[in-house]
Amino acid sequence: MTVQKEKHFVAPSLSLRYVSTSKYIFAALLVILVEWLHYEWYHLNSSNVIGNGLFLIFFYVISVAVVDWLRKLFVDDRLLKNIELRNSISKIINRAEDYICLVSPYLNLGNELTESIIKAVGKGVEVTLIHNSRAVEQNSPPAEIKRLLEAGCHLYHHPNLHAKVYFNERYFMMGSVNLLIGSFENSFELGMISNDRNWFQQIHKYTNDILASDITRPTTVDDAEPRAGFCIRCKSEIRYDYSHPYCSNCFKSWAVQKDTTSKEANCHHCGAEYEATINEPLCAGCAKGAVSGQ
Ligand SMILES: [Zn+2]
Ligand SMILES: [Zn+2]
Repeated sequence: MTVQKEKHFVAPSLSLRYVSTSKYIFAALLVILVEWLHYEWYHLNSSNVIGNGLFLIFFYVISVAVVDWLRKLFVDDRLLKNIELRNSISKIINRAEDYICLVSPYLNLGNELTESIIKAVGKGVEVTLIHNSRAVEQNSPPAEIKRLLEAGCHLYHHPNLHAKVYFNERYFMMGSVNLLIGSFENSFELGMISNDRNWFQQIHKYTNDILASDITRPTTVDDAEPRAGFCIRCKSEIRYDYSHPYCSNCFKSWAVQKDTTSKEANCHHCGAEYEATINEPLCAGCAKGAVSGQ
């Protein structure tokens, strides 16, 4: 079967199933209020049904536009893609006056973003960064993590973090993009930026819940140090690297079949007996505190 690439999604036609109903209700209330207070039900009581009906419809359409415009006075939100996401993250960092919170499973900020974060700390902005426990082994340059910690940023890690959200005291940005240099240019990413207070409250709660979780730990300078690990097949000592848990000999023999379900003898981190696989190289205990080295 061939995939029909010409197929595209058509925006749904005006149907109450698809649109947010609240603005239409507000507009209707506005029409009723003005009709009552200003016209004293004139258009509803008069006998010119067509003329008055047309007037009320016209008035209603204008009211919907007014409600839309009123919302825009309070809420500023936009859809963002690719490089626009990076620019928005930079703005969130550079324009913060109070705090910045960056939640990204993987970190590789590059020099420019790291510098802007450190500059923000210098201005007295409180910076919190939450990443996945595996980030340090997989993508994050240890030197970058050290710089952020030494500058006074608060870093935390959670083993299952996959959410991405970035905010300061005024705006939040949510979407698919990690704080990985290059991912803005090379992949198709989508997100949104908004200052909607209702969303903000829920995002704050979500972030606080991650921070309050028992398995969220502060990231320390030690976490960024390269550590020793074990080959999951022969238990020889190798450099700890979550995505490369075999010694070079065992990797060569694994690569013949490339069987990702192949069960090995021990945990890559602590060396304890464990049916590790290339995708799950850590025993349960180590997976919980992957960075802290529990
Ligand atoms: Zn080996
Ligand atoms: Zn282990």
